Amino acid sequence: MAKIKSIHARKILDSRANWTVEVEVNGVSGASPAGASTGTHEVPTVPADIACDFINNKMKKAFLNHEMNQKEIDRKLKFLTGKIGSNGAIATSFAVYNFLWDERQFNRSVFPYPLGNVFGGGAHGGSCYMQEVLLCPKKAKTFPDAVQKMTDAYHELKKELKDMGLSLGMNDEGALTANIGFMELMDILKPIADHNGCAIGLDIAASEMYRHNKYYYRQKEQFLNRDEQIDFVDHLIKKYNLFYVEDPMNEDDFDGFSKIHSKNKKTLVTGDDLTTTNTQRIQRALGKINAMIVKPNQIGTVTQAFDAISLCKKSHIIPVMSHRSGETTDATIARMALDFECPIIKCGIADMRTAKINELLRLWDKTDKPKMKKI
Ligand code: PEP
Ligand code: MG
Repeated sequence: MAKIKSIHARKILDSRANWTVEVEVNGVSGASPAGASTGTHEVPTVPADIACDFINNKMKKAFLNHEMNQKEIDRKLKFLTGKIGSNGAIATSFAVYNFLWDERQFNRSVFPYPLGNVFGGGAHGGSCYMQEVLLCPKKAKTFPDAVQKMTDAYHELKKELKDMGLSLGMNDEGALTANIGFMELMDILKPIADHNGCAIGLDIAASEMYRHNKYYYRQKEQFLNRDEQIDFVDHLIKKYNLFYVEDPMNEDDFDGFSKIHSKNKKTLVTGDDLTTTNTQRIQRALGKINAMIVKPNQIGTVTQAFDAISLCKKSHIIPVMSHRSGETTDATIARMALDFECPIIKCGIADMRTAKINELLRLWDKTDKPKMKKI
């Protein structure tokens, strides 16, 4: 087995022009993304220069000549997250994963469906209260066709909003923004999604709008209590035939998620801030959700993310691999989604989000008889 011969950390910029950590292990790199609507239960980060300093001046000595074994290295990283943060840990863990990826004979052939953020707001920028309006090209038979359908819908929506005279923007996740009401936007998007073979999903990111036990809808200047929030989400699911709803309730309201799930068995009621890629929180969510976001940097290492995915699969919860709102061109999660057979990857549509999509297009092109995972 190969050994760690060199390890070096440096600061690089993420897509929001904030410093993040990049680590090179034997010349192969990994970089940490960063969230804006982070869950309270995520493993904390530390400032990038502190993480880099610790990795280069303290951690390095203990890791040199260590066998390139992902589980063993991740076990050590897990105990160092207090010093290097989830950001230093995931950058190192990604670098090791990418080194091993280059070494091994890769034989996975079942590809995830992309889930792309077409219109956004909330903590990612834009006037809309809804954080993410998502498209999943469920009718596609191949990954390139899935990308085609999703981008066709994106361009059509963009044109329609422009033709209405709206001035368009792009937010942190490369999603479109415009001064339009959420329901009006949904009424315009629904037929576009339908004729492009896409299903619609939402990331409500409800913890971000939770104030004094109520949900604040800033475009409407309206507060909803818990029951009204459940009814509103239920109404949206039925009106727009939503196939996916992420974080519809505050991050500690497991029973609220359960209420929405029990009324809407065909919709993927998905935990993100609720579960934070943490197996203890997934245990609490069993039977209450049927899908879960996997953000490796929420928990700190590739191995812990893999453990979360394994628990999901045993528990009939669909693991959805996901980017963060602050990203780099690092495409490790695209590889992981394929490697760990996640049926869906949420990684955006436009802007630097294409790094993950393009990695999957490359892999599709290089794979013998690739197929799509059933969802
Ligand atoms: C999300 O909430 O799903 C998301 C990608 O946002 P962030 O990275 O800001 O947590
Ligand atoms: Mg989310």
